[in-house]
Amino acid sequence: LEQARIDLRTVVRDLSDGTPAFDRLSLIRDLPAAIANGEMFLQYQPKVHVRRQAISSAEALIRWQHPQRGLILPGDFITIAEDARQISALTLWTLDQVIADQKTLCGDGRDLTIFINISGQLLGDAEFVAEACRKVGAGGVRIGFEITETAVIRDPQSAIANLCRFDDVGITIAIDDYGAGLSSLAYLKQLPARELKIDKMFILQLTSSNRDPLIVRSTIDLAHALEMEVTAEGVETQAALALLSVMGCDMVQGYLISRPVSIEAFRQFLRDDNLQLGGDLRQSMFKR
Ligand code: C2E
Ligand code: MG
Ligand code: MG
Ligand code: MG
Repeated sequence: LEQARIDLRTVVRDLSDGTPAFDRLSLIRDLPAAIANGEMFLQYQPKVHVRRQAISSAEALIRWQHPQRGLILPGDFITIAEDARQISALTLWTLDQVIADQKTLCGDGRDLTIFINISGQLLGDAEFVAEACRKVGAGGVRIGFEITETAVIRDPQSAIANLCRFDDVGITIAIDDYGAGLSSLAYLKQLPARELKIDKMFILQLTSSNRDPLIVRSTIDLAHALEMEVTAEGVETQAALALLSVMGCDMVQGYLISRPVSIEAFRQFLRDDNLQLGGDLRQSMFKR
């Protein structure tokens, strides 16, 4: 009955947005086994601290290598996983993976926080919250959660309480996609967040738009006033980096530095950065 209800809801939604119903249904059907069969994998994208000119953290981004359809990006299955109530299992899998990967990446004593994306639905899921806190609390690892403000606005009281529990076990909270969804300054000041990530929609045309620089600069000032660090996502050009640096943006993430890459490639990236202080990447990125 439960499955029928989910399927029906999905079909109804498909009819209204034009996506073929069988697509979603077959992905819903394939999801549980996909986790078990090892079809999910993570890519890592570094974040660089602008003043320190060093990698400060990384974001883990999930991908699905589907045996028939090929590579599926999260934009095409996260909402399906939410609808099919698979998002908790998927995120706990991601968390386990990241905890294991972090031990490999930081074997040399490196201080690197790895962030995972937490779907809004999970901020109201007591079982998920308890399990995630247990995993991170036991791990001795540096983990961050990226959440959107839209997720908090749905049920602010329980979301804020759960974010505080994450904070208590040492999980760093970052506000993701800031400015792109529903924003409320009333909630923003109550969140135990250390970092604000400005959505890439304000960064991609930063140096060719009249308004984006104004929005970005005032957002950076606002975050700093709230004692948060600021990350700009979607930094693709040297010109954007230069402007963000002048504006006092703390961290940058984007194709200029690296696309999301496999753990092996990310490891090499960390190694190169270690070996060549003032090396190629750094020189090309931070040339004045
Ligand atoms: P996000 O958290 O805002 O992640 C940033 C997205 O921007 C990623 O897309 C990344 O590949 C892309 N990106 C990074 N740098 C650049 C750039 O310089 N230019 C451009 N044009 N794009 C850039 P991706 O990997 O497709 O992820 C999309 C969204 O899917 C993520 O947005 C996140 O909300 C969600 N997501 C990813 N992994 C997970 C997960 O494990 N769980 C959940 N719940 N959501 C996830
Ligand atoms: Mg994110
Ligand atoms: Mg983001
Ligand atoms: Mg985004």
